[in-house]
Amino acid sequence: MISTLPERKDEYADVCIVGSGAAGGVLAYELAAAGRNVIVLEEGDELSRTDFTQREGDLVPRIYADRGARATHDAAIPILQGKCVGGTTVINHGICFRAPERVLDEWKRGFGVANLTTRVLEPHFQKVEKMIGARKLGPEDINANNQVFKRGCEKLGFAGGPMTLNMQPCGSCGPCNLGCPEDKKGSTLINYLPAAVQSGARIFRNCRVEKVEVEVGRARSVRAKQLTVHAPIIIVAAGAVNSPALLLRSGIGALPAVGSNVSLHPLIPLLIVSGTPLHSMRGLPHSYYCDEFFNSEDDFLFEGLFVSIGVFAAGLGGFGRYHRDVMRQFPNLGLTYVQLRDRSRGRVFLRGDHPVVHYEMNQEDRNRVRKALKLLAGICLEGGARMVATTHVRPVIMSHKNDISQIDQAAFRPNDLTVFSAHPQGGCPMGSNVSRSVVDSNCAVHGIRGLYVCDASVFPSPVGINPMVSIMALASLTAERILAGTRAKA
Ligand SMILES: Cc1cc2nc3c(=O)[nH]c(=O)nc-3n(C[C@H](O)[C@H](O)[C@H](O)COP(=O)(O)OP(=O)(O)OC[C@H]3O[C@@H](n4cnc5c(N)ncnc54)[C@H](O)[C@@H]3O)c2cc1C
Repeated sequence: MISTLPERKDEYADVCIVGSGAAGGVLAYELAAAGRNVIVLEEGDELSRTDFTQREGDLVPRIYADRGARATHDAAIPILQGKCVGGTTVINHGICFRAPERVLDEWKRGFGVANLTTRVLEPHFQKVEKMIGARKLGPEDINANNQVFKRGCEKLGFAGGPMTLNMQPCGSCGPCNLGCPEDKKGSTLINYLPAAVQSGARIFRNCRVEKVEVEVGRARSVRAKQLTVHAPIIIVAAGAVNSPALLLRSGIGALPAVGSNVSLHPLIPLLIVSGTPLHSMRGLPHSYYCDEFFNSEDDFLFEGLFVSIGVFAAGLGGFGRYHRDVMRQFPNLGLTYVQLRDRSRGRVFLRGDHPVVHYEMNQEDRNRVRKALKLLAGICLEGGARMVATTHVRPVIMSHKNDISQIDQAAFRPNDLTVFSAHPQGGCPMGSNVSRSVVDSNCAVHGIRGLYVCDASVFPSPVGINPMVSIMALASLTAERILAGTRAKA
């Protein structure tokens, strides 16, 4: 075990980090390796490879936020986030993309973010990718499910390629979203966090931080039920949703932008039914992507994927006989999805001390989802799918490309179809304008000395690609800047 349970009521450190996920793990290591006395407080438990039994009924309530039931205010969009040592990196699919220059440009022009370019981030991307074992897949790694999608892209001349994943060749058990029983996924649980502990960091598990205490414009301490950590530098890295919620609980809601600008980066699945078995759980379930439409106008990506059976069944759409008949064909089923760089924005509020996310996709985004699903259906049919179907309550079932226009009749209101969020961002947006942002370009909270937020919540608009590596690179850069600042003062 790399974490412990706290023994004292008060602890003292140079730096206290709330959360041990993508950002928290990198920050803990970089700051501890530079000689800082670091304490990490993590709300969730610590699990190891033998705990990742692939049993959804046991694992989802244990390692997902809100026992896997986190969702928007109207229950239309489940919001999937990890709650364990290693955070969401433990349950994610290991896809490694870098933040595109055009998005960083948008942050500069639209929000006044300074000194955050691909050039500035380059050494941090490299460091992170090495530490987590990112590798570009070869053609042999693309499993049968992803092959359908790949063939379709190639026939239609759409740009795409094999994924880069932080996963090493494995026994291909399939449900990566339940943690890796072979330690082949480079989550912070197996790289950054153990390295941080080796450098002297302490990680306290099962410690939910209730409040950051601020006195006369300076953050002083972090309070959990079991202990208080006193530190001159406090970094909130609790993830989108939980970081703004913690700031609101701490009374930092006086900054009007706390909780604002939430993007849910919606993921909209499309079912593939093949004429022959795909065994989509075998091989790497997410091995091909198509970025033909990832431009400032369309702004969506297509990715191949498969998930554990319960999550799959819950997201399939349809009821009764349709649902049963589709699930009976399980070996022949595959999945792809649209990843939308949304233009809708939501907000995190508190109900009691618990976060609630208000978010509804606007009409423009619904129209974009419609367009994207039509294109994706065409790709999968071209790639050899016998049938494809949307995940509507009344699914649109398509066996021929002439059927695709039926999507024009389908409704796209909340709860009409399955939409997931696995990449929530925003809530503590970065920027130069104090009324529209929470942190400056160094991730320092406006007007409160010693307090930082560094995680997915600071992205002022959605990054578009799967965000883990960009969050980690930002954390690496932020650690460097904090160290430079404290050295300058010493
Ligand atoms: C199923 C799934 C698949 C995904 N696949 C990919 C992928 O393939 N590629 C990719 O780039 N991204 C993927 N993501 C998203 C990616 O993993 C996250 O965007 C990223 O981990 C977020 O990093 P973070 O540091 O903001 O937060 P997290 O990694 O979520 O870490 C936050 C941590 O803070 C802890 N915490 C929260 N509140 C408190 C509190 N009050 N006190 C103490 N601790 C607290 C949480 O328990 C958690 O451990 C996926 C996500 C999911 C759910």
